[in-house]
Amino acid sequence: MSIDRFELVRASFGKKARAVEIPEKKASEYFGERVFDRAKMRKYLDPKTLDALLECIDKGHPLDRATADGVARGMKEWALENHVTHVTHWFQPLTEGTAEKHDSLIDLDGRGGVIETFDGKALAQQEPDASSFPNGGIRATFEARGYTAWDPTSPVFIQEDTLCIPTVFIAYTGEALDYKTPLKRSIQAVNDAALPICRLFDPAVNKIYCYLGWEQEYFLVDEDLYAARPDLMITGRTLMGHMSSKNQQLGDHYFGAIPARVAAFMRELEVESLRLGIPLKTRHNEVAPNQFEMAPIYGDANLSNDQNQLVMNLMNNIARKHGFVVLLHEKPFEGINGSGKHCNWSLGTDTGRMLMAPGRDAQGNLLFLTFFVNVLMAVQRHNALLKASIASATNAHRLGGHEAPPAIISAFLGRTMTAVLRKLLEVPSDTPIEIAGKKGRSVGLVEIPEIFVDNTDRNRTSPFAFTGNRFEFRAVGSSANCAGALATLNAAVAEQLLDFKAALDKELEKGKTLQVAVMDTLKPVIAKIIDVVCFDGNGYSEEWRQEAVRRGLDMETNVPEMFKAFTTPESVAMFTRTGVYSEKELAARNEVKWDIYTKKVQIESRVIVRMAINHIIPAALEYKTRLLKEVALQQQVTGSQDGCGTELELIRRIGSYVEDISDRAEQMRLARKRANAIEDEYARAMAYHAIAESIAQIRRPIDKLEELVDNKLWPLPKYRELLFIS
Ligand code: ADP
Ligand code: MG
Repeated sequence: MSIDRFELVRASFGKKARAVEIPEKKASEYFGERVFDRAKMRKYLDPKTLDALLECIDKGHPLDRATADGVARGMKEWALENHVTHVTHWFQPLTEGTAEKHDSLIDLDGRGGVIETFDGKALAQQEPDASSFPNGGIRATFEARGYTAWDPTSPVFIQEDTLCIPTVFIAYTGEALDYKTPLKRSIQAVNDAALPICRLFDPAVNKIYCYLGWEQEYFLVDEDLYAARPDLMITGRTLMGHMSSKNQQLGDHYFGAIPARVAAFMRELEVESLRLGIPLKTRHNEVAPNQFEMAPIYGDANLSNDQNQLVMNLMNNIARKHGFVVLLHEKPFEGINGSGKHCNWSLGTDTGRMLMAPGRDAQGNLLFLTFFVNVLMAVQRHNALLKASIASATNAHRLGGHEAPPAIISAFLGRTMTAVLRKLLEVPSDTPIEIAGKKGRSVGLVEIPEIFVDNTDRNRTSPFAFTGNRFEFRAVGSSANCAGALATLNAAVAEQLLDFKAALDKELEKGKTLQVAVMDTLKPVIAKIIDVVCFDGNGYSEEWRQEAVRRGLDMETNVPEMFKAFTTPESVAMFTRTGVYSEKELAARNEVKWDIYTKKVQIESRVIVRMAINHIIPAALEYKTRLLKEVALQQQVTGSQDGCGTELELIRRIGSYVEDISDRAEQMRLARKRANAIEDEYARAMAYHAIAESIAQIRRPIDKLEELVDNKLWPLPKYRELLFIS
């Protein structure tokens, strides 16, 4: 099988946009039509079942069997009307993506035929064969079985012919084996810690919500070109490839016109997402060629995260219909921007108060400042841990580069909020925190604008940025499950709020007013953070690295090492106090993380060596042989090698690169062999970390050869061919 690269490139260039069937209805009319949402609940459930289910959803009551049966009856009716034939528990194991096992609805009716069945038991709980999912020894050591259980706060939905039931995945002994469980626990922890504080300000508050609005970045490549790149197919990124002469330097891709083929893909993705109740709102070209982004309207963090997982599946399926493959890898191409998933995060009350946004009066501003400052303190206390929560073998290529969050977790406040915090340290605690512009400008007052409109006051180099009514956690990777980062952030915030409330109670006991007590408790916290975690400068600069060391922020860049932050005494204390992870779970999850890290690097290392030997060296040697023949011919005909300088130089260089590659490949094979013999997961991952660095080194001579070897002989689509969808 030989690849005609030009044929592939020509064919991909000639592809036209695929026609997309757009519903004739308005989006608002088909939004959520494939979701068993509250409207469907009202239509398909009897009133008693409906009330019981809403109690479960809104108040977290457990689902009893009779209610589950009632819900299943209604769901079955809805499902059959929508031509559903199968049902699955849909969950998020510690691998990438989601897992599902489909069961048909049919059962024997005892009279030689079949009937459709679906009852409360099938809805509420299943026992998938859990031994094939990563669990870091939890089940091997403690309990052999795991089960999935419906999360009623995540509505059931229909995908194609299948009823999908979002579930948690846990061991019989209660340990979480998935991403969803700790996220749900962390939302509960934030509620429990934040509620008593909010109620001091407003006794009407009964519940705290945690919100997430993700921005999903991704690349598209033509599927025929993709299929000619074994590295992309197997590892999700290019392990080799010389930079294209033009890439993103003209800045002409960001917000540029969306190519017709891509626009068609986006349209279909949006329609399908809206049907599934995912409120996609924005779409645009990103900075790098072939890079795009989309974002929904934010919502409940648990649901929004499910929707992100669902969208990632949808993207893959729909892209193929349009002749594309979606790359969710954080760094598919060297030399151009990688992809992240900004997690816009905030808290709010059931009375409609957004806690990360300034209030309408002095009291509201005090509440805002309380949460604002405590979030920053939580980020400071656990900055190493938060970095660990976004670290992975794939995101490692993005962190610390000059395009994405630096490998130091700091927080951007913006000029206004920095000034407010500094001012608060100076003024007496009973100074009202006014809203800018409302009472004129009098010196000595602390003022906060009601809405932040100044978009220029933004800093793209910060991993954790305040953006007016929320924080943007920008270090999360494009392929990640946001729950990993959010559970950690929520837990850290919950811990800090518990500590704050305890300190505040002491001040209140002294008979101080709420304002004075809050300010007296906040001031020492502000003093601790203002010159440590708060940093508005350029997060990519060398000066910041030096400054961050001085400030005592974590500087670790080695991913397997970073994971250790999960099991330090401070982290274990924080996670167990807030009930988000047990110590056993933390240890087990680290085993899983190290193991996944090892395997990813191991696969890349095998792929690059095989490609070097099977693709690159043969092409280089073929060209070298041709050059040698030319020189020999010249010698034969003219009796001298005069005028063969270029050929001889090329022969020499190709020879030396080929030798370099062979040597490095052999060294890498041996390093792998040594690493594979290591039993301890952490030590093995550390050995693979060194191998990850040699992958980058072996790439260099390969990319040099791409520059030298006759274009016609090059066996892989080049960056310039992969990266410019017409
Ligand atoms: P930008 O590119 O300017 O950061 P986008 O429009 O791409 O903004 O995405 C911003 C995301 O933040 C959206 O998902 C939006 O719904 C979400 N968002 C807005 N306000 C909040 C909030 N208070 N809490 C959480 N997410 C929010
Ligand atoms: Mg954006």
